[in-house]
Amino acid sequence: MAEIFDPKPVEIKGFEIDERIIKLADKAEESCSAAFAEIDKNARINGERVLRAFINNKVSAECMNGTTGYGYGDKGRDTLDAVYAEVFGAEDALVRHTFVSGTHALTCALFGLLRKGDKLVSLTGDPYDTLEEVIGIRGSGNGSLADFGVEYDQVDLLPDGKPNVADVFKKVKDAKVAYIQRSRGYSLRPTLTLTGIAEIVKAAKGANPDIVVLVDNCYGEFVETKEPLQCGADLIVGSLIKNPGAGIAETGGYIAGSKKLVEQCAYRLTCVGMGKEVGCSLNQNKLMYQGLYFAPEVVGNALKTAVFTSEIMSLLHFEVYPKREEKRGDIITAVLMKNAENLIAFCQGVQKGSPVDSFVTPEPWDMPGYDSKVIMAAGCFNMGSSIELSADAPLREPFAAFVQGGLTYPTGRMGILVALQEMFDRHCLKLF
Ligand SMILES: *Cc1c(COP(=O)(O)O)cnc(C)c1O
Repeated sequence: MAEIFDPKPVEIKGFEIDERIIKLADKAEESCSAAFAEIDKNARINGERVLRAFINNKVSAECMNGTTGYGYGDKGRDTLDAVYAEVFGAEDALVRHTFVSGTHALTCALFGLLRKGDKLVSLTGDPYDTLEEVIGIRGSGNGSLADFGVEYDQVDLLPDGKPNVADVFKKVKDAKVAYIQRSRGYSLRPTLTLTGIAEIVKAAKGANPDIVVLVDNCYGEFVETKEPLQCGADLIVGSLIKNPGAGIAETGGYIAGSKKLVEQCAYRLTCVGMGKEVGCSLNQNKLMYQGLYFAPEVVGNALKTAVFTSEIMSLLHFEVYPKREEKRGDIITAVLMKNAENLIAFCQGVQKGSPVDSFVTPEPWDMPGYDSKVIMAAGCFNMGSSIELSADAPLREPFAAFVQGGLTYPTGRMGILVALQEMFDRHCLKLF
C-alpha cells in the first residue's frame, strides 16, 4: 500500500548551517521583497525584448548549426549579430566566441577606433585593472596603445566616487574616444546607472560632438530596462561569461553600436577587408542564442542574490556597496571584509557552496593583468564565469570581496550561507 503523502517540505541535510545564520537569512530575505518585485518586473520587460528580437530577426533551427573553416555565410552568426543589435538598440553588433574575454573585446574596440596621435580619455577615473596594460599606463607598454602613439588622459572621480561631470568638457575637446565604465569593477565607487551615463555622455558630446563614446558594459546588461546606446553612447562592449551569456555561452564577447564603428572593430578582430564576414562559429551558436534568451531571467537571479548578500552582510555589520535599498547599475556587491583572514574565509566558503569544484580551495595568486594578488572563488560550469556565483578579491586594503552572480536565486543564496558558515567556523564571524 502506498504511504500517505506528507506535505511538509523536506529538510535538506548536509549544509549544516547554524540556526542563527538561517534565521538571519530569513529576516534578510523578508526585507528584500520590494527589491525582488522590482527585479522581476525588469526581467519580464527585458525578457520580452529579447523574445521580440528573436522573432523579428527570424531566428531559425538552421541558425543553431555552426560552421567550420573560414565561416563564410554563417547564418547563425550573422543572425545572432542582428538579434544582439536589436536587443541593445544598436545598428550592428559583433558577437563572437573568439573574443577570449571582456578585456579582449575592449582591446579590439580601442585598437579599432584609435590611430596614432589620437587621444583616449576615461571619463570615469582609473580604467579597469586589465586595461591599464592595454592603454600603456602600467607594465612594459610593449604593443600597448601608448606604444602605437595613442595618448591617454582621464577625468578623475570626485572624492565620493561619483563622476566629475563638471570637468568632462576640459578633457574631451581634443579626444577621439571617451571611455565610460558602467560597473564599479574592483573599486568601491558607485556603479553608474543609466541616468548617470546619459549625463556624462551629454557633457562629453556637448563639448565635442564628434567624440566616440565607448561604454564598458560589463556586468551591466539587463540590470535596467534600457542600455547605454539608448542613452547616447556610440559603442558598448561586454563579456559573454558575464550577464548576456547567462552561464550558458561558454566564452566570448560582444561589441555593438553603429555599423561603421562595429566594422572598424571587426577589422581588428579578424582582418582589414574581411571583418565580420569570416570567423566560423564551430558549435557555439546555439549556446550563445540560449545564453541571450535566458539572460534577463538569470541577471534577475543574480540581482536577487546580490540584494540578499547586501542585506545579510549589513545585518552582520559589514560595510556593503551598494546597500540593499540602493538602485543598482550592475550585479556586483562589494563587501568590506576588514582583514585578509575574513576575506579568504569568505571566498573559500563561496567555493565550498558552489556546484562545481566545491571541494577545491582557492588560494590568492598573481593573476595576469592584475597588480596585486587576487583570490577567486568560481565553482562554475564555465571556467571563470562571473554570472555564476563567484567572489573575487584583490588582497589589498580595504579587503573588499566583490561578489557577483548566481544562476538561480536558491543556489546563490545557499552559496552565501555556506560562506558565512565557513567564516563562523574559522572565528571570522560573530553571531548573536
Ligand atoms: C569583467 C570586466 C572587464 C573585462 O574583464 P575580463 O575578465 O577580461 O572579461 C572589463 N571591465 C569591467 C568593468 C569588468 O567588470
